[in-house]
Amino acid sequence: LFITIEGPDGAGKTTVLNELYPRLQMIAKSEIIKTREPGGVLIAEKIRQIILNPDHQQMDERTEALLYAAARRQHLVEVILPALNAGKIVVCDRFVDSSLTYQGAGRRIGMKEIAQINEFATEGVTPDFTLYLDVDSDTGLRRIHRNRTQEIDRLDLEGLEFHQRVRHAYLKLAEENPARIHRIDAKASLQDVVDSSFSAIVESNPN
Ligand code: C5P
Ligand code: MG
Repeated sequence: LFITIEGPDGAGKTTVLNELYPRLQMIAKSEIIKTREPGGVLIAEKIRQIILNPDHQQMDERTEALLYAAARRQHLVEVILPALNAGKIVVCDRFVDSSLTYQGAGRRIGMKEIAQINEFATEGVTPDFTLYLDVDSDTGLRRIHRNRTQEIDRLDLEGLEFHQRVRHAYLKLAEENPARIHRIDAKASLQDVVDSSFSAIVESNPN
């Protein structure tokens, strides 16, 4: 079972996933692997550092899209597929939907173009279930500017309109893939978001 968690910056993916993980472990019949991208394995973490380095302002947007796809490929082959083949449950923080929204819509490369290079990178591997934590861009940006004391990444320098394009693309994907993508209102309290995320996963995957 392959589950992904998606959403714009400031939706709270990382925090929600950290709370969700122990609860899922208590009820799951198989081992659960929690991972994230871009990153998750040595080579992909190195690619992540290249992409997110704030000194790399001159990076071309297609270069960026290819690097995300390359990092995804390595992480898929080293972590996700072996775990799925061993019957484990994989919960991954971001996957192809992030590239469709950030590079396709945010960077305006086009969702079709991004879908093509990701088809090459993943050979069609698609999540069984996707939690989409939806938050409006004002709230999301306010949250990241309040919380980001650690690493400032290149994407933190993007403005409101970039983040609005990303969010609208997520809403469109959710509308087009109702069987896979479950939208959660991430403006609610952390406890409510965790509770509804947990219920959504349990309801759609009773085993
Ligand atoms: O999910 P996380 O906060 O770790 O993502 C790190 C940064 O990478 C964020 O600023 C996010 O917006 C950006 N990102 C991106 N395109 C992707 C995935 C992540 O721009 N495909
Ligand atoms: Mg995060």
